[in-house]
Amino acid sequence: MDVRTEDLTVTIIYDNRVGVEGLKSAWGFACLVEGLEKTILFDTGADGPTLLGNMAKLGMEPSDVDVVVLSHAHWDHTGGLAVFLDVHSAVTVYLLESFPDEIGDDSRSRGADVIEVSGPAELCPGATLSGEMMEQGGIAEQSLFLLTDSGVAVVTGCAHPGIVSTVERAKQMTGQDVLLAIGGFHLFKDSDASVRRVVSRLQELDVRWAAPCHCSGDSAIQRFADDYGDAFLRCRAGIVIPVGKLLQTA
Ligand SMILES: [Zn+2]
Ligand SMILES: [Zn+2]
Repeated sequence: MDVRTEDLTVTIIYDNRVGVEGLKSAWGFACLVEGLEKTILFDTGADGPTLLGNMAKLGMEPSDVDVVVLSHAHWDHTGGLAVFLDVHSAVTVYLLESFPDEIGDDSRSRGADVIEVSGPAELCPGATLSGEMMEQGGIAEQSLFLLTDSGVAVVTGCAHPGIVSTVERAKQMTGQDVLLAIGGFHLFKDSDASVRRVVSRLQELDVRWAAPCHCSGDSAIQRFADDYGDAFLRCRAGIVIPVGKLLQTA
């Protein structure tokens, strides 16, 4: 099941901040997973023009995408989907069963295959969805687990159920260490004390590298930068994270 791939990369397409000149930033998240049997667009940002514009500037072809995953039903993750499907609908869209029906219905009407899941699902060798996790108060979310010979990387949209819980689920599901966490960690409302607890918990769980972006929040991102040091990865629109190569060095 594990994939030996040096070529596995995650490229941030859409984020609150820009890491490469010429791209646009906006509140939201999307990234592209390449190097596996399937090319996976994980989340779609808040709007289609920014998503497609950034993809074009990064030299990505929408038609290369095989699978689209929506982490959760918030507008800043689903907003670019319709426009994306109008350009390229020959994809399988993975949603949670608990999403509002409109998202699946609209995607089908634009020509996409839609698979609604509640439990874990394998997208292709090396890429598995976490299954639905529920935040206290009720936002359902799924995350993406990338499995390699060297360990696991976790990709989150907003991590509403908690980045620590998500890493724990990945560890439990895969039986391997989670070495890298990428995405929105939803800490922008947390106190520094609470962020410190999250960082130290992730370090106790042996998460070697952290790439927080989107709703992680500026002060939490700075805390990760300080506490992770060289193992902090700056994560912004346009940044390519060489997941396969990185994990091999673990
Ligand atoms: Zn959200
Ligand atoms: Zn979000």
